[in-house]
Amino acid sequence: MDQMSNFDDLESQVRYYCRQTPNMFVTARGASVWDAQGNEFTDFLSGCGSLNLGHNPPGIKAALIRYLEADGIGNALDFHTAAKCKFIQCFHDHVLAPRKLPHLMQFTGPTGANCVEAAIKLSRKHTGRRTIVAFTNAFHGMSMGALSATGSRKARRGLEGHLDGIVRLPFEGYREAGIGELERFAAMASDPSGGIDPIAAIIVEAVQGEGGLNVASDAWLQRLRRIATDLGALLIVDDVQAGCARTGRFFSFERSGIVPDLVCLSKSISGMGLPMALLLVAPKFDTWIPGEHSGTFRGNSLAFVAATKAVGHFTDPDFVSGISIRSAILDRWLLEMVSAFPQAIDRHKGIGMMAGLEFKDPTCAAAVAAGARERRLLIETCGPDDQVIKVFAPLNIDVVQFADGLRRLHATIETVCAPRIGMKAA
Ligand code: PMP
Repeated sequence: MDQMSNFDDLESQVRYYCRQTPNMFVTARGASVWDAQGNEFTDFLSGCGSLNLGHNPPGIKAALIRYLEADGIGNALDFHTAAKCKFIQCFHDHVLAPRKLPHLMQFTGPTGANCVEAAIKLSRKHTGRRTIVAFTNAFHGMSMGALSATGSRKARRGLEGHLDGIVRLPFEGYREAGIGELERFAAMASDPSGGIDPIAAIIVEAVQGEGGLNVASDAWLQRLRRIATDLGALLIVDDVQAGCARTGRFFSFERSGIVPDLVCLSKSISGMGLPMALLLVAPKFDTWIPGEHSGTFRGNSLAFVAATKAVGHFTDPDFVSGISIRSAILDRWLLEMVSAFPQAIDRHKGIGMMAGLEFKDPTCAAAVAAGARERRLLIETCGPDDQVIKVFAPLNIDVVQFADGLRRLHATIETVCAPRIGMKAA
């Protein structure tokens, strides 16, 4: 059996990314990934936000090797370990304390979805209520609770009818929806005859990743914060994708000044793609009884070792100003593309290093993504119709490599779109 047919013959149909890019990947460093033939790809995907610091960041790699060589304990459930102790102190000192966030740290099962499950469960338990408010185009994960809050019909397929307990509201900008829709909902939810069951929590992404790079405004987030408090509901911010500095600050909601009751973090929290998830819990809501949300892999010590180093990167002023530099490069490029291809591109979307281009025709976006992959750029689309090309490079990508990747993407757009819209390719 050849190595490639191995996957066809032995692995489930469910696999996805590998169908778009069937290369056999072997090594990776920074924003580069090499396949078995030695072809170098530039990574504009970053493990869907789990590699914000790029592949194998040297400081993290060295710390992991040292830890392994010293026979550091591996999986440790939720026993006290030196690795976890260091991380907790470091995260408190460098992330929470400077932002005056009093939250406690809960290590859930090591996926974003499990972190969301814990947040929903804690909200329901604490309030004794069942209903959760979630938004159009939201993505929160593939387990039952997280999926019930997710908007995508494709993701929900097969479980329709089982995903209940949710009131769906339009995210800001959805068919022109804004604060008015939130206010109407708040009025109905507090009206004894409004027909809405008491709300346990509101779950929101301050920037929707999978849903199409939709950015909630500060005013909208602030209003949502007030509504949650007025309704006696918890405000959960799902920062699994938009957190860990992706939007320029550590948390995506920081810019708005709101303080959520619960914050879900995962993906890049360990700094190099090691599974780990962290639920931040405002102290007054920490009403768990011991063992109430357990999980075998809550004590991934390698992830703690890596995450401790990663916090150092995420909070290093040079790293943070480097994100602004790269965001400005990206922003300029996106604007250039919008004005160069007005027949094909509707608008640019997103914020910071979480931005992209919305195409009028989703098949055009798909063709651009496929063409870019042929030019050795790993990239994907997002949005309800996969109409948005999502540029998701590591936050510390070398600026020359970044500009080169954007040039390749530009050339692809030109080649793909020109014949479709009757433009002359430059
Ligand atoms: N929340 C958000 C905002 C996400 O983007 C994702 C994953 N794309 C999840 C939750 C689920 O994370 P995981 O795939 O690790 O379960």
